[in-house]
Amino acid sequence: MKILVINSGSSSLKYQLFDMEKEYVIAKGLCERIGMEGSLLRHRPADGKPVVYEEAMPNHVSAIKLMFRALTASEGGVIKNMDEIGAVGHRVLHGGDKFSASILIDEAVKDAIRENIPLGPLHNPANLMGIEACENVVPGVPQVAVFDTAFHQTMPEKAYIYAIPQKYYTKYKIRRYGFHGTSHRYVSARTLQLLGRTENTRIITCHLGNGSSIAAIKDGKCIDTTMGLTPLEGLMMGTRSGSIDPAIVWYISEIENISAAEVVSMLNKKSGALAVSGFSSDFRDIEDAIENGDERARLTLDMFEYSIVKYIGAYAAALGGVDAITFTAGVGENSPLSRESIINQLSFLGLKIDPEKNKVRGRETDLTAEGSSAKIYLVPTNEELMIARDTKNIVCAN
Ligand code: AMP
Repeated sequence: MKILVINSGSSSLKYQLFDMEKEYVIAKGLCERIGMEGSLLRHRPADGKPVVYEEAMPNHVSAIKLMFRALTASEGGVIKNMDEIGAVGHRVLHGGDKFSASILIDEAVKDAIRENIPLGPLHNPANLMGIEACENVVPGVPQVAVFDTAFHQTMPEKAYIYAIPQKYYTKYKIRRYGFHGTSHRYVSARTLQLLGRTENTRIITCHLGNGSSIAAIKDGKCIDTTMGLTPLEGLMMGTRSGSIDPAIVWYISEIENISAAEVVSMLNKKSGALAVSGFSSDFRDIEDAIENGDERARLTLDMFEYSIVKYIGAYAAALGGVDAITFTAGVGENSPLSRESIINQLSFLGLKIDPEKNKVRGRETDLTAEGSSAKIYLVPTNEELMIARDTKNIVCAN
């Protein structure tokens, strides 16, 4: 069975076509600048040369049409026609509290995604456009929604309710939802396989990339996570501040005479590592600058690691101990420097990382040193594969 996985943004659309027999990516691609001048599609077949289509894509329907043309073209094409695609899986940002698992898309599911637009104003409308464009271009092909928030729906009330007046939850659904759920689910399931058991397990998964979050997972179920109502809460990130005193929003809006929305935009796009370093949100640049003696870069990495160490400590307490800590995503998979520093700062918990094994990037590895109180793993994340598996399972079960 072939499954197409789509991650639809407001002006971009990423896709991967999987052959599920061997869970193999046959082709992938990216439509950029949808609805703008200079739109283009970069299509990459697994066995063959990349093909670039510089064509107008005024909307998501035209992007999806072009994607199907690329998938079936004589140059770079990987299938004969669209009938070969068994189902389409969509990454959807916000499922609110309606979805604790992936689901076959019907009108009611689309309505629910629409209802959650206030909670995911940038992503949910784009996700819907991708879904509706597929309905338009390949009618009858089953589509599945896989939510970033779903895995975290097992959190207990004490972890997801904010200590603010109850009406904000009952009327407006303001609560912790958490994000990167598909990644935490994939990586924690793999960690459980590596541990060799599911019962009585306490895992902390660290998704450290441009956006970063940590999850506390007991017996395979999420009990807490760092992101909140939106992906702004929690760790310091590439361009996001992470948790700060909420009164800062009011204070800056007063002194700068700007709206709360403008302050929140600044906290999302111009803060984090970018703001502290003053030059980059990319941790590769930060590490390079530290090598050259840049003190702001040093402070940036110190702050990033400190926020991670604090949350791992908090989650070790929430879980009543820890059996495994797993690193994933851009920084987690590729920065031995950060992994070693984070685990060394947690040595009071009895954690020990092996510096030799830790000299690895992007490859699944047991990083645990002898005598460590818990396992330490690097597990590369694969959200697309998780979406493809869910899609296949749901379509085959229906
Ligand atoms: P992601 O959001 O998971 O794609 O992660 C992207 C981030 O990973 C980039 O912004 C970099 O900061 C970080 N990254 C990628 N490679 C490295 C590396 N070799 N060393 C440190 N950070 C890296």
